[in-house]
Amino acid sequence: MQMGNVNFDTYFHNYPDKDGFFGPYGGVYVDDKLKAAMAEITQAYYSICQSRKFIAELRRIRTEFQGRPTPISHLERLSDALGGRVQLYAKREDLNHSGAHKLNHCMGEALLAKYMGKKKVIAETGAGQHGVALATAAAYFGLECDIYMGAVDIKKQAPNVARMKVLGARVVEVTHGLQTLKEAVDAAFDAYSKEYNDAIYCIGSVLGPHPFPMMVRDFQSVVGIEAREQFIGMTGHLPDAVVACVGGGSNAAGMFAGFLNDPVDIWGVEPLGRGEKLGDHAASLKFGTAGIMHGFNSIMLKDENGNPAPVYSVASGLDYPSSGPEHAFWRDLGRVKYDVIDDNETIDAFYKLSRLEGIIPAIESAHAVAYAMKLAKRMEHGSVLLNLSGRGDKDLDYVIEKYGIPD
Ligand SMILES: *Cc1c(COP(=O)(O)O)cnc(C)c1O
Repeated sequence: MQMGNVNFDTYFHNYPDKDGFFGPYGGVYVDDKLKAAMAEITQAYYSICQSRKFIAELRRIRTEFQGRPTPISHLERLSDALGGRVQLYAKREDLNHSGAHKLNHCMGEALLAKYMGKKKVIAETGAGQHGVALATAAAYFGLECDIYMGAVDIKKQAPNVARMKVLGARVVEVTHGLQTLKEAVDAAFDAYSKEYNDAIYCIGSVLGPHPFPMMVRDFQSVVGIEAREQFIGMTGHLPDAVVACVGGGSNAAGMFAGFLNDPVDIWGVEPLGRGEKLGDHAASLKFGTAGIMHGFNSIMLKDENGNPAPVYSVASGLDYPSSGPEHAFWRDLGRVKYDVIDDNETIDAFYKLSRLEGIIPAIESAHAVAYAMKLAKRMEHGSVLLNLSGRGDKDLDYVIEKYGIPD
């Protein structure tokens, strides 16, 4: 498939380019010291991750430890409830070990750390999901793990802080500024620039300087590759549309990677939160403009001074003021379409999937469920495959307290 001057037959050989760009987006916008560290990781990624030994080991781990492949479920009762003309299917990343897709790239990153001879992995976390996934991977490989977390988030996310500590990670409290994710990112990068001989930084999505957007996409592409084969096996054809939620964009990038060269509509779903006013949503690809933050060039939401704007979503895993550079590229090309779902539509989908299918989705994933439901009403016939990026146990207390339980 060809779009603009991009040929999707050979897409993964050409994007990103050697400097880490997807068209105008991506790159490495960090100081010289970190640039050298990024170059080392890039070099290692190209030589180690393409080796047979690495690929075989990661494949074995995915089967024996993570429980892959995760299944696809036909959502028959939900499809019927929407009129039955369109059939919905879910790729079940909620059944990946530790309950979400994030472990896919954390295991890849930690295995790379082991091959590079590093002793420690370093990351920041906001809601704690990335911290828990990385702590899981570090425990598996016997690596030290330092997770930087804002003091405000530590108070809010006590269960995830406990999980990280049980798994043997060190949770480092960040007490400057607003004491949330942005400060945690700064603190983690700071620590990494001092420790990069012994440690590797592990980012939580398709974000940050090159090679991270590429590496995380490649490690997550197992989702799309499995899903494509499974879906054809189940139905005999491709889905008409594929849907995933977009925070930083890792679960979406992995899913979409399997279908870029197919005649399939691809939808990325961003959180509209409380509405279209700046500060009430986190729909960067829909409302943002080009800019540079956290070491890369992408589309972002900015305040009046050009700094990353405050964002909001009911799903703490989606409230980031930008998205991965490759999503910005796909948006401009028109290969992926991006649309929004608000908090109320999300909560409705959360309960519909729970009650009609016996699957409690993560509140992030419920955005994708809600959009697939919208598509089902809009389409005449056909099939929609959504990525159910994680399970919702972590969200139960919050959803019940804020929205109550419907009759
Ligand atoms: C973190 C998270 C997301 C958002 O991150 P992406 O990088 O956009 O995938 C989505 N779903 C779940 C369950 C998450 O934990």
